[in-house]
Amino acid sequence: MAATIIDGKAEAARVRALVATDAAAFEAAHGRKVGLAVVLVGSDPASEVYVGSKVRLTREAGMESFEHRLPADTAEADLLALVAQLNADPAVDGILVQLPLPAPLDAGPVIAAIDPEKDVDGLHPENAGRLMAGLPGLVPCTPLGAMHLISRTLGDVTGLNAVVLGRSNLVGKPVAQLLLGANATVTMAHSRTRELPALCRTADILVAAVGRPNLVRGDWIKPGATVIDVGINRLDPREGEAKGRLVGDVCFDEALAVAAALTPVPGGVGPMTIAFLLRNTVTAATRRQAAAK
Ligand code: NAP
Repeated sequence: MAATIIDGKAEAARVRALVATDAAAFEAAHGRKVGLAVVLVGSDPASEVYVGSKVRLTREAGMESFEHRLPADTAEADLLALVAQLNADPAVDGILVQLPLPAPLDAGPVIAAIDPEKDVDGLHPENAGRLMAGLPGLVPCTPLGAMHLISRTLGDVTGLNAVVLGRSNLVGKPVAQLLLGANATVTMAHSRTRELPALCRTADILVAAVGRPNLVRGDWIKPGATVIDVGINRLDPREGEAKGRLVGDVCFDEALAVAAALTPVPGGVGPMTIAFLLRNTVTAATRRQAAAK
């Protein structure tokens, strides 16, 4: 039987509607809208698209969107000055600096300069440490979205074997921490892992966050597994592919015949990221308001 295709688009819309309700309740209680500041340096086309969607969906959720666009040759000191200004602005609950930054800017010092309470991307080392320690903090949005889809699909994951392909700070490591926190037995794999297909076949839950088109083949998947494909890869039109077609890290057609449930690309994990960015912003606003009392 073919796998159930997990509809991330519909689930993201559901999450955004819940966030909008919470944002309206926040405004009614505190007399101001929840505010998200987005900073875009340069004009990378993919980043332009992401920032455009973030601004539109922030407003649709009844929140205030503050957009800051800086030229590609912005000096680090100027970017840090903007971050300091946003840290101090009481109308700003969340700060997102769109990555990647254009060279030679280094994301490290910029992320470290964001007030951890406003770090809605969850990338500040303090928030990464909080996740690791099981303390409340802000968790990166894509991992939250992936974990949400896993929970909606499987319910309780206690004792299930999870394999996470990829160990980035942005996706792989936080997904693994969330699964561990939910009592799954977690193995992290990466480019140096041996016997990757055999390891993947042990997974009741397989999360692929690698960035290699169609890396995971059907015979890597345990029959009945839940497969979450975080990868977003644009195929090269010069190789005869329909213009820039997007595919995941999992060979979708092959996985469909083996898995019990599977996320498509696009329309799986992708739409969840902004939904959880908005969720994180309301969470940050509520915590700051409570701390101010
Ligand atoms: P990344 O920083 O490049 O990390 C990729 C990871 O995959 C690394 O840990 C790397 O291992 C591992 N890897 C590379 N080749 C491998 C192989 N052949 N076998 C096993 N592991 C391998 O990427 P990322 O930022 O985590 O993103 C991963 C994918 O998710 C990308 O396609 C990205 O576009 C997508 N993504 C989607 C969203 C979204 O849906 N909104 C958000 C973020 C990212 P090493 O550590 O050993 O190098």
